[in-house]
Amino acid sequence: MDELVRGLLFDGQFRFLAAVSTGTVEEARRRHDLWPTAAAALGRSLTAAGLMAFDLKGEGSITLRFQGKGPLGMVVAQGRREEEAPTIDVRGYVGQNHVDLDLREGKLDVGRAVGSQGTLYVVRREGSTTFTGTAPLLSGEIAEDLAYYFQQSEQRSTAVALGVLVEPSGRVSAAGGFIIETLPGAGEEATAALEKGLLALGSVTEKLRLGYGPVDLMREVAGGEVEIGTSRSLRFHCPCNRERAAGAVKVLGLEDAESLLRERGDIEVTCRFCGARYTFAAEDLSWIFAEPED
Ligand SMILES: [Zn+2]
Repeated sequence: MDELVRGLLFDGQFRFLAAVSTGTVEEARRRHDLWPTAAAALGRSLTAAGLMAFDLKGEGSITLRFQGKGPLGMVVAQGRREEEAPTIDVRGYVGQNHVDLDLREGKLDVGRAVGSQGTLYVVRREGSTTFTGTAPLLSGEIAEDLAYYFQQSEQRSTAVALGVLVEPSGRVSAAGGFIIETLPGAGEEATAALEKGLLALGSVTEKLRLGYGPVDLMREVAGGEVEIGTSRSLRFHCPCNRERAAGAVKVLGLEDAESLLRERGDIEVTCRFCGARYTFAAEDLSWIFAEPED
């Protein structure tokens, strides 16, 4: 099961958020029929959105939009946290789902698929406040772009690692990652030890493939210096439904809806975030366009 864990490293000098998101990313791949490079780009972004939503105080959501000039067009990932819910829910999509580029140095070339020229937009809704931030994309590799965003837009010093492993069959067999943030007062010695640990860890994807969980990743980075905090499960979930989809039909107006029905026989509304399809026939118009009762 996919899991998010938070905690502290090196006696509270750093905080971490870490995730295993394999099932979530595979679900996204399946729903959107993502080809490998697209699956890796969305998978990294969904993992990040899940980690950031987990980090919200109380209810809220995080929306990440990587708007680059590469063939994916854009990558959108949203994470939601509800106070009482046992899970953090993520959903998202890419502009073009059938993107599969040649490997670069043996790795999925997410940077080229997203494109290094562009902007990362972050919207953080937390309680009744909304914060919007942006940063230029550094490489389109998602993790690097996020670390740069944290530094530029929020003045937070972080190490971000995100990985997705896609099998030759196209299935996602491992996904996850972490965000480690330097807290005020972190000492030079601990910083050096953390950097050494991050270097020694190497590829996150490789560790996930070996079955590492979120805490295993942190133990590898920080040795025994890990203090585990709270955890939550993570899943791909979209709150769309037939009633909300009917809203899109209503926006067309009765006249246009009727003419579409005459042309096509039915009206299909597809949820961009999860790929769910809702079909409406002539008899649905009466309730869709019914005047609300007092
Ligand atoms: Zn949906």
